[in-house]
Parts: sequence; C-alpha cells; structure tokens
Amino acid sequence: MEHKLSIYNTLSRKKELFVPIHETMVGMYVCGPTVYGDAHLGHARPAITFDLLFRYLQHLGYKVRYVRNITDVGHLENDADSGEDKIAKKARLDQVEPMEVVQYYLNRYHKNMEALNVLPPSIEPHASGHIIEQIEFIKKIQEAGYAYESGGSVYFDVEKYNIKYNYGKLSGRNIDELLETTRDLDGQDEKRRSVDFALWKKASPEHIMHWPSPWSEGFPGWHLECSAMGTKYLGEEFDIHGGGMDLVFPHHECEIAQSTAALGKETVKYWMHNNMITINGQKMGKSLGNFITLDQFFTGNHNSLEKAYSPMTIRFFILQAQYRSTVDFSNEALQAAEKGLQRLLEGYARLQKIVPSATSTVDVKGLRDRCEGAMLDDLNSPIAIAHLFEAVTAINTISSGNATINEADLIELKDTFKIFVEDILGLQTEIEAQGGSDAYKAAIDLLLQLRQEAKANKDWATSDKIRNQLTTFGFEIKDGKDAVEWSLK
Ligand code: ZN
Repeated sequence: MEHKLSIYNTLSRKKELFVPIHETMVGMYVCGPTVYGDAHLGHARPAITFDLLFRYLQHLGYKVRYVRNITDVGHLENDADSGEDKIAKKARLDQVEPMEVVQYYLNRYHKNMEALNVLPPSIEPHASGHIIEQIEFIKKIQEAGYAYESGGSVYFDVEKYNIKYNYGKLSGRNIDELLETTRDLDGQDEKRRSVDFALWKKASPEHIMHWPSPWSEGFPGWHLECSAMGTKYLGEEFDIHGGGMDLVFPHHECEIAQSTAALGKETVKYWMHNNMITINGQKMGKSLGNFITLDQFFTGNHNSLEKAYSPMTIRFFILQAQYRSTVDFSNEALQAAEKGLQRLLEGYARLQKIVPSATSTVDVKGLRDRCEGAMLDDLNSPIAIAHLFEAVTAINTISSGNATINEADLIELKDTFKIFVEDILGLQTEIEAQGGSDAYKAAIDLLLQLRQEAKANKDWATSDKIRNQLTTFGFEIKDGKDAVEWSLK
C-alpha cells in the first residue's frame, strides 16, 4: 500500500512508519471500558482516538479487524490484586446480578458511542465469555515457567521473567524501583514479590463471580483477558494495541509480560496511547470522583457545566487536539469547539449549494494533500482541521460572490470535504447525528399536518409550497394511502 503513515510507538518511543504484519488485514486491539458506571469524558477520548485510526486505516485501503474488549470481571478496586470486583460491588450495592450491571451500562455505553459517531468495533469480546481461553493462557505461562501457584491463586513471576526478558520496557520502570516502592504498601503474603501480579485469584466466600479452574474456584486477573482475547482474535502477532495512557502501567506492561512469557515472542508491533483529559490539571476519572459523564454533557445536567454540549461538539473538542497531547476540560474550550464545528459544518453545507463558474479564482488544489499529510503524521487531526478551516474561508468567499470556482475544482473540494469531514473525522450535523430529535420530528409532522389541512380546503398553493420547500430542504415526502411518510434524503 502506497502511503507514509507514521505512528508514535510507545514501546520504541518514536514515530515509526506503519508497516502491517499482513498485507491484507490490520489487527487492532483497544482496551475497552470496565462496565460498572456511565461512560465519562475520559472514556470518549480513547474511543474517538481509535475510531479515528480505524477510519483512517480503512481510508488508506486496509481491511481492519478492530477488537475492543468489555471488561466485566476481574477488575478489582484500585486496579490492585486484592479488594472487591468493581462490577460485583456495584451489583451488591444495587442488589442486582453482576451481569445486569454489565448489560445495563454496556447498553448505555453503546448509545453514547453511537451519539459520538464512534463506529462499532469488528469484535467486542467480554472477559467473562473467555474464561476457558484465559485458563489456557495461564497454563502456557506456567509451562514456560513464569507462573507459580499459591493458596489456590496463580501469580506471574516478574523477577524470573525479568532475567530473560525486560519487565518495564513499555513504561520505562524497572523492577528494583518497583520493589522499593511497593514492598511496604503491599501486605499480601501469597505473592513471592510485591511486583508479581495475579493471573488467577481464588474467590473468597463472599466473592460472587467465580469459575472452576485447575487451581481453585476463582476468577482471572484483570490483565489476562487482553492477552487471551487479543491473541485469540488477532493471532500471536498483531499490529496495533491501543488504550489510554493510564493503562501503560500496570495493565499493558503486565500484558506484554504475559504474552511474551506464554508465546516466547513479542505479540504487539505498535503500542499506541492517547493522552488524558484533565479537569483543572487533574486526570478525569471515576476513581478520582471528578468526572462528568457523557450523558451529563449531552443534557447539561452537572454543576460544572454552563450548558449542554452536543455529542458532535464533544467529538470535535477531542479531535481538535492531537491524541498524544493533554486536553483540559473547560466550558470556554467546549464553547469554542461548538463554534468551530458550526463554522466547519456550515461551510460544508454552503459548499453543496455553490454553482460552478468557468474559472477558479481560489486555489483548492493542495487541500487534499495537506489534510492527508496531517493525518499521515501520527493522526494530526488538529492540523487537518486547520486546513479545512482555510477552505471554509474560501467557500465563504465564493458563496458571497467575491470569488469563483470551476467545476473540476468544485468536485475536488466536495470530495475532499466528504472524505475528511464525514468519513475520517466522522463529523455530522446535529440532525444526522441524532437521526432527528423528537422536537424536530414533531415540527415536521406539524408542517405535514398543515399541508393536509390545506389540501382539504383545496388551498393548493399552500400545500404545494410546504411540499416543495421540504423537498428543497432535503426531505422526501411520500403520500401513502393512509398516512404521509417523510425521511431525510
Ligand atoms: Zn486491556
């Protein structure tokens, strides 16, 4: 494939030319949410970042198998090896089944993702649906000699692994420092070393989510699911593994150790991490209690919010920063994003109405290459957006009659906008995004009702006017036998 996509690899700490392992299919794995609460702005960033990558790889002509997992078991409080399972705790507090918690929040997560125009992944595996694969994976690690059993639980032997391989290479931490900092904090005596982590945990009597295994009735450690499901669906070696920067340690570091120990080789070629969204300089997170859910943004129902912000405003706000830079939340920044998005989409709408002239007095030829160049450079969406804004200025000049564009240039400009605004950045107008809100639908219905009344009164001028105007606006009106149907073309 002819392109020069370079992406920053967290493992090598530099930008690398993207060369896929297999010519025909790119394998991409992204750590999805632990579904025990509503998705917040911090969840939107990895979802949108890797949606951008998913869309862009497809634009480059790749077939992509995108796996984004759902963590529904084994993720304990404080991301530690002890404590209550986050989902089981929520189930206990709400007095429901753990899988009711999972289904409830997963449905809501999907709704949020759809509102943000995040494409569904190719496969969305659940950790609880892959217990057998996880047990098999532990057996492989054990056979390779990097796991030990203790009290019915199985732990990864980090020190032994580190002799042959390099534990900490992704996060840049080293085992001696880790031993220093964790020794006193960790009161667990089942483990040989405080840096060791659980592959399988024996369930305590009050722990409600457990499965049989060769070691005990228990449950898998949090990091294991991604090793097991990533290699199951993408193979022992695959191209891209992504997630938020907060997952680099311990989650992804442990995942590398597990997969390397079990398979004797590196599994992931490119590690990619999006930076965090901060509030007053602090990471936004459920555990920190400073989060604003996506639904709260969409409704404006949170005391830190001056107003409601549409899903597309949130998407645009995130895309306005390159994924490796931090984004600080503020009402001012969101309102600026809202205005910017409106300007871009209005320009795009205006573009559709431009009538070509014999000659062009604007230069639009380099736009596609400039946008492509920005995206090829580690998905630099803000630069691509800046180029589109320059084009909006040209569109506005043409629209106001102060410049002209010929047919070939107009087609090129429309194509470029379609590709970058719609297909790659995934931006939509509000009506498109919402599939029509209730109020909007009611307003159209009211107009059609007035048309029926006009018809009944033989007021053809009014009934034709309503129909023709709605058609001009892009609606399709179908007069059925009993009812009038409408849709947006
Ligand atoms: Zn993961």
